[in-house]
Amino acid sequence: MQKYINLLGIFGYPVSHSLSPYMHNKICKELNLPYFYVPFEILPENLGFAVKSIRILGIKGINITIPYKEKVMQYLDKISKEAKLIGAVNTIINDSGKLIGYNTDGKGFIKAFEKNFKTTPSCKTFLILGAGGAAKAIITQLCLEGAKKIFIANRTLSNAKNIVLNIKKNIPYSEIYALDLNSNEINNIISEIDVLVNTTSIGMKKTDALLINNELLSNKTIVIDIIYNPRETLLLKEAKKKGAKTLNGIDMLVFQGALAFEIWTGVKPPIEVMRKTLIEHMFNTIEKR
Ligand code: NAP
Repeated sequence: MQKYINLLGIFGYPVSHSLSPYMHNKICKELNLPYFYVPFEILPENLGFAVKSIRILGIKGINITIPYKEKVMQYLDKISKEAKLIGAVNTIINDSGKLIGYNTDGKGFIKAFEKNFKTTPSCKTFLILGAGGAAKAIITQLCLEGAKKIFIANRTLSNAKNIVLNIKKNIPYSEIYALDLNSNEINNIISEIDVLVNTTSIGMKKTDALLINNELLSNKTIVIDIIYNPRETLLLKEAKKKGAKTLNGIDMLVFQGALAFEIWTGVKPPIEVMRKTLIEHMFNTIEKR
């Protein structure tokens, strides 16, 4: 019978930027749960050993971050339906020595969307900027939740096309198209877009320019940027000026963490405490740098 130690954590390389330890340790304290959450910096050549150590040491749960979300899958015993479709795992639970992988990024996005806009993704048309790891998770979950139509616009068109092919193969009822971010294709579809989501890393630096012409923004579109630092990217500033409803990446980060915590402990954590902890930490440290 597997014995657990009350340890949770995150594997990444690098991992020092992660805000998850603050969030999870705060909720363990708040709920009086005996877990401790530790960031582990794992060198690429040690990933397989590190995953084995979850089982050997009896660690209860681990988050996975950049660059291991895809690579870690080969070391697990079972993978959830969503994580398989997305092709990436961000949460592992040690279930009596069996390591099961989940992906809570996509569901975290949906929960943030529903909480903030009091509506669901079904019957809505989305334009997703970017076709990286976060985009894959969000797009897959949007398709599973019955989004009406999805356009993916990416700098490297082939990456967007690959997501489309994967979705068409696995969730065939989805209506989904790939666009070239560097062409004018967005101009032709912008009038039918209900929700625009930036999933690229453009917007993190103060010097980053807008990826799309700001004339395309309007008060008819919800604009979401999944970047959480800075809290208001140029895209969100410009969208607000046009009267659009906007949302940054903090709530997605909170909800993906909350879902992971629930998988590990069976306890629904207090979302507002997690959110406040993140914002306080960001304000007191990162934003003052
Ligand atoms: P990723 O897999 O590396 O994907 C990066 C995406 O950005 C790709 O589509 C890439 O296009 C695009 N891109 C990069 N540089 C670009 C440029 N100069 N011009 C146009 N497009 C460019 O990264 P990720 O893991 O998806 O993360 C992306 C962002 O989401 C990061 O800012 C991350 O912090 C944020 N994020 C937030 C949450 C949350 O919970 N809020 C969760 C995950 C990620 P190509 O395909 O052409 O390279």
